[in-house]
Amino acid sequence: MRDSCGRTIDYLRLSVTDLCNYRCQYCMPPEGVEKRLHSDILSIEELAEIAAAAVRCGVKKIRLTGGEPLVRRGLPDLCRMLRAIPGLAELCLTTNGSLLPQLARPLRDAGVDRLNISLDTLRPDRFAAMTRLGTLQDVLAGIKAAEAAGFRNLKFDTVLIGGFNDDEIEDFVNLSREHPWEMRFIELMPMGPCAHWSGERFLPVSAVLERFPDLRPLPGDGGVARRYQLPGAQGTVGLISPLSCDFCAQCRRLRVTADGHLLPCLHGRAEQNLRGLHGEALENAILAGAMAKPLRHHLAAGGSNTARDMNEIGG
Ligand code: SAM
Ligand code: SF4
Repeated sequence: MRDSCGRTIDYLRLSVTDLCNYRCQYCMPPEGVEKRLHSDILSIEELAEIAAAAVRCGVKKIRLTGGEPLVRRGLPDLCRMLRAIPGLAELCLTTNGSLLPQLARPLRDAGVDRLNISLDTLRPDRFAAMTRLGTLQDVLAGIKAAEAAGFRNLKFDTVLIGGFNDDEIEDFVNLSREHPWEMRFIELMPMGPCAHWSGERFLPVSAVLERFPDLRPLPGDGGVARRYQLPGAQGTVGLISPLSCDFCAQCRRLRVTADGHLLPCLHGRAEQNLRGLHGEALENAILAGAMAKPLRHHLAAGGSNTARDMNEIGG
């Protein structure tokens, strides 16, 4: 499927819940979000139906997200249904990692190919303060469980936050020396609870290159991260800079929220309700969503225009 700018759209980020067991300061209010009626959220069958229609339209890769996708009951069943969709090349999942000790094996058995684990700090006290409800220990146990279950080439996503974790850049990058992991740094986007945080919190990911001038660029794989490697390292480092908008021209994504709305752009207001649509009507709505993708967002110039919070969209 192509959009009106000629970009190939083949990647769907599917949010399976807006709920989360954490309350990361930049993402969620301390009290969490109001639990919606069960009937307001897509059922497992509806999620699978939308995914199958998206694959018929040309989607090759699906990433499950949230909220925290692992709190969604029936997640391994959903993954099994998605894995059986003919033509789907890759099924991935983005998680805070805390429930992987219980779920890594069932998810692997259900056919999940790859995991991204969000990890903003390696210090237990900072971790507890940032997530408000989490412990670093759970995530470290989750990482072990993921590797034991057979997940390889894990990717870690660290939101770079001035005055919070910029003194840990070295610690994260150094993990790529000994582990076959991709350590990714993401610029904090001013939206939701962090929309009005002070300027010094928002750092460009080029700060990573300043600290490690020996990071060598690797050829791109079409994703949003610019990839680098230290000499002799087993793993890689990825830099993702949504603020400078250097990947809109390569954007291949559509997003669907847990309440069934298709979002052409993370930072746009446009959405299309997919609930109640089936077959050709559902496919047409997905194709129309792709055509409605804007050329670029204006996050750096005017802020995000989205009406939704990150826990609803899923990143
Ligand atoms: N709960 C899962 C997790 O944390 O990985 C999946 C959903 S979470 C919304 C997806 C990603 O978005 C996480 O890596 C999170 O750190 C990131 N994120 C949330 N708010 C953000 C913001 N304002 N700027 C940049 N990244 C953000
Ligand atoms: Fe939950 Fe992920 Fe948001 Fe943190 S970033 S509150 S883990 S949805």
